Amino acid sequence: MFLKSRNALNPHESIERFSIMANVDRAYNQVRNELAHVGLLSDGVYLDTVELCISHEKSGGERGYVFEKVGHYAKRGYRPGVIYLPRDLPHQPYKPGLTLMDTIRHEYAHAWYYLDPSFFRQEWFARTFGAAYSNCTSAPYDSWRKLIKKNPDYQAGKKRRKTEATKLNYFYGFLLQDFITDYATTNASEDFAETFMFYLKYRRSLDRFANRPAVYQKLRMVERAVYVASKRTRQLSDRSFRFRTA
Ligand SMILES: [Zn+2]
Repeated sequence: MFLKSRNALNPHESIERFSIMANVDRAYNQVRNELAHVGLLSDGVYLDTVELCISHEKSGGERGYVFEKVGHYAKRGYRPGVIYLPRDLPHQPYKPGLTLMDTIRHEYAHAWYYLDPSFFRQEWFARTFGAAYSNCTSAPYDSWRKLIKKNPDYQAGKKRRKTEATKLNYFYGFLLQDFITDYATTNASEDFAETFMFYLKYRRSLDRFANRPAVYQKLRMVERAVYVASKRTRQLSDRSFRFRTA
């Protein structure tokens, strides 16, 4: 019901290989099905309006992107709120274990914000992620670092590690207690996008994160936010159904 045909993808230019397009198409539709399943998308409503395009440009390191404002990029055909994938992405994963679907899940989080910013300005967001979505600094990570430096368990453990590599591993062990990935430390919006990606992927088995209580709490808050937003999707789709039948 929620599948979109390949024609729904609007490439800036023709793609060299049909198989790349087919992979993107499949991943896009699978993520759309997940979004429909959690209630963030229904026919013509809410996240259903988010488009995905293949950019005509190669990746400069990013896996995908969503512009909030296109600025001078408008000249190159970019539009705000659209999910873009760099044209070389599908056959060049940047991180082992990271799938094309994961990238699309992550970018949907940003597209969701673009679509409904007032929902993210409510207090649940800053309470969960330590800063407003629009705050581009790494404030949550900076305050986390201050706390960890004062943590005697962490300091004692660090002293026992002799090499820089083992110290760094030890640091990451602590970091991943509070952030779902290292990329999530970038700022509050990336923390949300990474958490949303994992929520969508593991929504039926979130308890697997219970041994990382701070991360688990963020996942449960995202689950709650999705539930609240899904009620809105239902109301909107009831209304559009009434319009169609009027
Ligand atoms: Zn992102």
